[in-house]
Amino acid sequence: MAERKIPRKALPAGLGRDTLAVREGLPASAWGENSEALFLTSSFVQPDAATAAARFANEEEAFIYSRFTNPTVMMMERRLAALEGTEACIATSSGMSAILLLGMGLLKAGDHVVCSQSVFGSTVALFGREFAKFGVETSFVSQTEVGEWRAAIRPNTKLLFAESPTNPLTEVCDIRALAGIAHAAGAGLAVDNCFCTPALQRPVEYGADYIIHSGTKYLDGQGRVIAGAICAGENVVNDTFVPVLRSAGMALSPFNAWVVLKGLETLSIRMEAQSARALTLARWLETQPAVERVFFPGLESHPQHALAMAQQSGCGGAVVSFIVRAPRGDGIAAARKNAFHVIDSTRVCSITANLGDTKTTITHPASTSHGRLTEGQRMAAGITQGMIRLAMGLDDVADIQADLARGFAGL
Ligand SMILES: *Cc1c(COP(=O)(O)O)cnc(C)c1O
Repeated sequence: MAERKIPRKALPAGLGRDTLAVREGLPASAWGENSEALFLTSSFVQPDAATAAARFANEEEAFIYSRFTNPTVMMMERRLAALEGTEACIATSSGMSAILLLGMGLLKAGDHVVCSQSVFGSTVALFGREFAKFGVETSFVSQTEVGEWRAAIRPNTKLLFAESPTNPLTEVCDIRALAGIAHAAGAGLAVDNCFCTPALQRPVEYGADYIIHSGTKYLDGQGRVIAGAICAGENVVNDTFVPVLRSAGMALSPFNAWVVLKGLETLSIRMEAQSARALTLARWLETQPAVERVFFPGLESHPQHALAMAQQSGCGGAVVSFIVRAPRGDGIAAARKNAFHVIDSTRVCSITANLGDTKTTITHPASTSHGRLTEGQRMAAGITQGMIRLAMGLDDVADIQADLARGFAGL
């Protein structure tokens, strides 16, 4: 795909990731802008008919049409690839459309997928229901039991799909072990890196082949746009994903790409600050009598704490979940009432299911993100009615503690 071979920006070799986060992209335009330009254009003017023909035939490198080539989108792709440590990246209109593109590119009828049962709810629906319509079968296995992944492999298994840490329980999978299982079976491993971002975890260093992003979360980082991406090798991006994107059209808008591009500039300092604040909050939550259990990879009490600390840098991400204590035997109604009370007592936290924002967000997974599951499915997944998920932003920790303490005091 010649149109993906646009010249690289002239940067010295061996730059650090923080520098790449603010500088990787494309050469500046004729005007020499310092901040990256927003090319809000659907198409690009061709100098003459013969050149247009050559460009459409991929014989010459140039931008043609923003469904599959746009300079602002390409700058975001190059910057994100540099941060993830992959050769290439392809941006999509949302995190879900990145997973759709992954499936459409890699799978065909008769293929089999092994997927963690703890992945994002829409990912479960996409593999389990939508791809099944096209003859792709998916087995769902435990996020943390490597043996279950190995046992689920079949001769036609083409893809393993995991997310680490998961939402809302922050379960961590062993990326290196899963990559080993995938590659031994001639399959690929995709990891949804939404919660950690490349600032804290680079799955490619542990053998993952495809890194999935919902740019909607920390990459934008301020809750403004919906965006997604797949980071992977150059050949698979150019030969497998670009043709599907060109035909299927799950393209990222240049405006949204520009917002994410600028968000990437502050990603590492935001992730460091937000995960440090989340750890402080998680430790405090563990001391609260009103709290039964805290889920956060940075806590020594987390079942995969050692693995998380080996696979990630920072303090364990910025998402903290916890269960509010309810009187024994009072059942799920009391547990939900207490959780709702704590959420409704906050004055600073935003009550919203989104995460990855500088504004701290709080939500009740059992009635929102996981509200479509049956109570039995929720119990199996460990998402109880007393559980609250908090995504720490850049608010002062003391203000968030005061917010939660108000609710705890009223129980
Ligand atoms: C939000 C989310 C997605 C989906 O991303 P959208 O941009 O909302 O489509 C996928 N995976 C994870 C882990 C998410 O949190």
